[in-house]
Amino acid sequence: MTAPLRSGDPITVDVALAGRAYDIVIGRGLLSGLGQRVAALRPGARVAIVTDEVVAKQHLPAARESFAHAGIATGLVVVPAGEASKSYPVFERVCEDLIGARIERGDLVVALGGGVIGDLAGFAASAVRRGVDYVQVPTTLLAQVDSSVGGKTGINSRHGKNLVGAFHQPILVVADTALLDTLPPRILRAGYAEVAKYGLIGDSEFFAWLEENCSDIFAGAPAREHAIAVSCRMKAQVVARDERETGDRALLNLGHTFGHALEAAAGFSDRLYHGEAVAIGMVLAFGFSASLGLCTQADAERVAQHLAAAGLPTRIADIQGEPPTADRLLDLIAQDKKVKRGRLTFILARGIGQSFIAPDIDAADVRQFLTGQID
Ligand code: NAD
Repeated sequence: MTAPLRSGDPITVDVALAGRAYDIVIGRGLLSGLGQRVAALRPGARVAIVTDEVVAKQHLPAARESFAHAGIATGLVVVPAGEASKSYPVFERVCEDLIGARIERGDLVVALGGGVIGDLAGFAASAVRRGVDYVQVPTTLLAQVDSSVGGKTGINSRHGKNLVGAFHQPILVVADTALLDTLPPRILRAGYAEVAKYGLIGDSEFFAWLEENCSDIFAGAPAREHAIAVSCRMKAQVVARDERETGDRALLNLGHTFGHALEAAAGFSDRLYHGEAVAIGMVLAFGFSASLGLCTQADAERVAQHLAAAGLPTRIADIQGEPPTADRLLDLIAQDKKVKRGRLTFILARGIGQSFIAPDIDAADVRQFLTGQID
C-alpha cells in the first residue's frame, strides 16, 4: 500500500458511469467551498438541504453560510436523527417539504448527513417531480466511504431494511473529512468497519496498511483522507462495472448477510449500529469460510483481531442483551434480499483480499456454523 498522503489539495475520485459520471471530492475543510462547487456545477439552481437534527446543530450553519456566500438561498428539511427516519412517514414529509420549497427539475437536493440522510434524501430526490438531481455531503465515515457513493437510495419496510428504494446517482459527492471530528467515537468506529471491508474484499495490501495506520484514521491524521480515497476508488470501480448489482457489486455486501440479520435481531436499535453489525458479519463470513475449508483459520483470526483492535464488536456475544438463536438468525437471513430461489447467497473469502460470491450455500451448514458461534 502506498504511503499516506500529506494534507493538502483535495483528492478527486471519478465515478465513471456513462452519461452520469460524477466526482467524489475528499479533503479536510471542503464544506466552506460547497456553495461555490454547486454554483459552478449547476448555475442558478435552487437548493434544498435535507439533514437531521444532530447534524443540523453541528454543521448546518457552515453549510448554509457556504451557499449564501455563493449567492444561493437554501430551503431546509430537518428530520429526526437515526435509522427510524428511513420510513414511509418521514419520506412523505421530505417529499412534501421539497415540493413546498419549490424544488423543480433542474434544482438540487443536498443530503447533509450520514447514511440515513443520504438514503432518505436520495430516494426523495429520485421521486419528487419524477427525479431531481442531488449532491451528497456525507458526514459520517460510513457515508464518506460507502453509502454516499453508488446511487443506492431507499427506506426500510416492515419486512426488512432498504426494501423500498431506487437507484439514483448523485451528481457530486463532497466528503469533508473534518466533519468526522464531531462524530461520537462509537459511530466513527462503526464506519471503520466499511473501510476495513474494502481491504478484505479485494486489497490485502490495504488491509495490512490499515492494521498499521488505523489509529491515525481515528485521530484525523492525513491517513484518514488516504483511507477514504482508497475506499471510494474501490467502490467507484465496482459501481462503474456493475451499477445495478447484477454481478460483482454484491461483493460489497461482505459481512452484510450475517450483519443485517444481527441488526434485525437487535431491533435496528443502538444496541448494534450498522457498521458494528457488519464488523461481526465479516468475522462470521471469514469464520464460516474457514469452517468450509475455503480460507485459513489464521486469516479468520487476523480479521477478528484487527477489528477488535479498532474497537469494534467481533462476536455475537458482544451484542448487548439476549443473543439471538441460530434458527432466528437463519429466518432473518432467509428474509434478506440476498436469497435467490431458496438458496442462500453469501460473500465468502479464500483469504484476506480474496472475497467471492457464493450463491449456493446450504442452510444446514450455516445453521451448524452459527450454532457453534452462539453456544
Ligand atoms: P446515521 O446517518 O444514522 O448517522 C449516525 C449518527 O451520527 C446519527 O445520529 C447522526 O445524527 C450522527 N451524525 C452524523 N454525522 C455527524 C457528525 N459529523 N457529527 C456528529 N454526529 C453526526 O448512520 P450511518 O452509520 O452514517 O449510516 C447508516 C445507514 O446507511 C443505514 O441506514 C444503512 O442501511 C445505510 N447504508 C447505505 C448504503 C448505500 O449504499 N446506500 C451503504 C451502507 C449503509
